[in-house]
Amino acid sequence: MKFCSQCGNPVTQLIPQGDNRLRYVCGACEFVHYQNPNIVAGCLPVWGDRVLLCRRAIEPRRGYWTLPAGFMENGETLEQAASRETEEEACARVRQLALYTLFDLPHISQVHVFFRAELADLDFAVGEESLEVRLFEQSEIPWSQLAFPTVNRTLECYFADRLGQHYPVRNEFLPPLHGLAQS
Ligand SMILES: [Zn+2]
Repeated sequence: MKFCSQCGNPVTQLIPQGDNRLRYVCGACEFVHYQNPNIVAGCLPVWGDRVLLCRRAIEPRRGYWTLPAGFMENGETLEQAASRETEEEACARVRQLALYTLFDLPHISQVHVFFRAELADLDFAVGEESLEVRLFEQSEIPWSQLAFPTVNRTLECYFADRLGQHYPVRNEFLPPLHGLAQS
């Protein structure tokens, strides 16, 4: 950050009085620009014994497969964000969303949250941010072609949990690898 979004003057990094972290502070109007983690919400859409994946049409990780997911917008709930991303990337409607995996990624200041969900129907299609959208059986999952570790991990958990039909919510910390870059 170089300039204040309030008044346009240059910002500098300093620790404001009473705070304990470096912040971007405007030299003119003294506005403190707090920066906080971003939340990525997505779905694991299921149809029978198959799961829906999207092949990314955008960077980062263009051409790799992902669960539909993206940055939460202001004014929406987590579930709404996950449903919206599924609609945008796969033109798919989901129901019965159930919180499933929650990953802390402090090295990129992100939290990724995935819901298990049922596809409402098979009228999905390639959304604007996707090259391809299709259903995969477990044996067909392109494990080496998945876009993000949180997608790998969510799918691993799902197929393991499916054996016992029990899906506990998992909150895990993932060490530095790839995350979604902020666009
Ligand atoms: Zn300012």
